[in-house]
Amino acid sequence: MAYSVPKLTDWSADSLDKAVAALRAALAEETKSVKTEADWKALRDRWMARKNGVLTQINDLWLKAAPKDAKREVGRRVNEIKSFVEEAIANAESLKSGVVPAPEIDITLPGNRRKLGAEHPVIKTMNEIVGVFRNLGYSVEEGPEIETDYYNFEALNFPPNHPARDTQDTLVIANQQNKPLRDRLLLRTHTSPVQIRTMEKQRPPVRVVCPGKVHRNDAPDATHSPIFHQVEGLAVDTNITFCDLKGTLDHAMKALFGSSVKTRFYPSFFPFTEPSADVQISCIFCGGKGQRDGGPCRNCKASGWIELLGCGMVDPNVFGFVDYDAKKVSGFAFGMGVERIAILKYGVDDIQLFFNGDVRFLEQFG
Ligand SMILES: [Zn+2]
Repeated sequence: MAYSVPKLTDWSADSLDKAVAALRAALAEETKSVKTEADWKALRDRWMARKNGVLTQINDLWLKAAPKDAKREVGRRVNEIKSFVEEAIANAESLKSGVVPAPEIDITLPGNRRKLGAEHPVIKTMNEIVGVFRNLGYSVEEGPEIETDYYNFEALNFPPNHPARDTQDTLVIANQQNKPLRDRLLLRTHTSPVQIRTMEKQRPPVRVVCPGKVHRNDAPDATHSPIFHQVEGLAVDTNITFCDLKGTLDHAMKALFGSSVKTRFYPSFFPFTEPSADVQISCIFCGGKGQRDGGPCRNCKASGWIELLGCGMVDPNVFGFVDYDAKKVSGFAFGMGVERIAILKYGVDDIQLFFNGDVRFLEQFG
């Protein structure tokens, strides 16, 4: 039988407790039978409707009817009744079919931690190299990754059909056969075009480093990648000599690999420098001894030296392309592969790891 609010005649605490207990029992019984949306609405209205709902009746029949000296005690209980009725009705809503109860939240569990990002080891190394030259007063220049044949080859003293072009095979944009060769677009094979662009817009003295991404038509393996990064540098002024070049690069290698590192230069060839040199540093793994752990050092193939970068004095022909007077100014240029340096600094054994995007590898540098 549905609950109806009794009139009270006995206002003792004992009698009030009994009345409240009866109400609670009735409420529990009624909420249990809620199955549908309509059931729940009926329950809510029966108990909470402003006009003649159970709570309203309680207010009238119990609180308003109470004698003065019992009002306080009755009021306290009526407030209690109000809050537990509201709570029970709200809870009963989740009993309706089709409604999934909200999952209980365990606030003692650790939260989802959002991982902090970190610099990619290649970018980190590139910034370190750039930082060394910034400290020497060099500024930073960048240029387009899609270049014309003129900036990538011709202005750097690689004439059309010159065999030196074969050492820097690249990817060329398709369908340009009707353009003159010098205007054809390709993915730059080095950041040297930025040096030409810099000299075109700036008179000597020039001191710049050019960091950036370059491309070669190389199949990927442990030591080659069709994409890699370079930092090249250029200094042009009056009376720049090979000694300045040696001193600058020796300082840079010590700044990058530690003050005990030695450098040595030996002849090489690049179309845009004359004379040209390759630079080796003393092996950072065996201290230049060529032997490690009682056997030959495999990092330097027991030679004690590691080849790291190319450099040279700017070829006067290059100055001709940018309208610098080769009789008045001289300069040097150098270039290094960022991945190659990162591999040495961090002991990475496969260049592909830099580009695979494997977070387990990358987070070691965070
Ligand atoms: Zn070694």
